[in-house]
Amino acid sequence: MSSARADRADAEAVAASGGPAPGGAPLRLMAVHAHPDDESSKGAATMARYVREGVDVLVCTMTGGERGDILNKAMDRPEVRADLPGVRRAEMAAARDILGVRQQFLGFVDSGLPEGDPLPPLPDGCFALQSLTEAARPLVRAVREFRPQVLLTYDTNGGYPHPDHIMTHRVAMAAFDAAADPDRYPDCGTPWQPLKLYYFVTFHRARLTAMHEKMLARGLESPYAERLATWTDDPARPAFAITTRIRCEDYFPIRDQALLAHATQVDPNGSWFSVPLEVQREAWPTEDYHLARSLVDTDVPEDDLFAGVREAGLRREVRL
Ligand SMILES: [Zn+2]
Repeated sequence: MSSARADRADAEAVAASGGPAPGGAPLRLMAVHAHPDDESSKGAATMARYVREGVDVLVCTMTGGERGDILNKAMDRPEVRADLPGVRRAEMAAARDILGVRQQFLGFVDSGLPEGDPLPPLPDGCFALQSLTEAARPLVRAVREFRPQVLLTYDTNGGYPHPDHIMTHRVAMAAFDAAADPDRYPDCGTPWQPLKLYYFVTFHRARLTAMHEKMLARGLESPYAERLATWTDDPARPAFAITTRIRCEDYFPIRDQALLAHATQVDPNGSWFSVPLEVQREAWPTEDYHLARSLVDTDVPEDDLFAGVREAGLRREVRL
């Protein structure tokens, strides 16, 4: 079947059912991340929910996380240090299976988080030093192969200022447009236009405040007291408004299992797990997003990443 005819079949199935076709998964979601473990700390419960509703989900991981530290003392052992990239690949495979997603490494080398004053230069050949044209190439290829309607990635600040996260943002924005342009990357497959792109809005003040207050109301110690007391909004890095909230509290346990699979990166006794799940469910049962690009009509606030795509969006693809 040609791709155009396949798209038409997808569109008809979706229009008839109002959701993914019973016999297939025409809706496709791609999350673009910098390192293995980022997919489990940002949007993981969202992905777990969509997978179980029949959506095809692919995580693209720009780097192998080669320069990450070992953040869990129990894993700081010589044999782990001797092959951290291999250990992190195995951790990623385990997290992938727990979430139920597909996952690809796009082949770049972790830039590391530079520390010190002045900051040291980034290491030769790392992801953040690539030209944007070359850094976007494997992602353009992946978009054209997987044909997602929706992309998820970091905001302009990278979510936090790691050079790989900022580069990941730039690459995802570039690929959103370039993947659809037949004159760009002609050796990277048949052009494909994603329809929506979102930024993760994860560790925001309203969510932390809600969890903090719920902990205090239960007579529990809040892990956020100091952070909230000293919270300052950086005018150079404005917060992105939440346009889209995805109910996914039933999937928080799966998110936590996926996080724990990244055993070198996550301390099971650390702050990630200091708020009981039932408190999280009551305080803030969604994962949140900012709709940064949309080529379909949609009304915000939304409660579905595919709002506007399920019907009109797929018909539009047929015309492209
Ligand atoms: Zn990261």
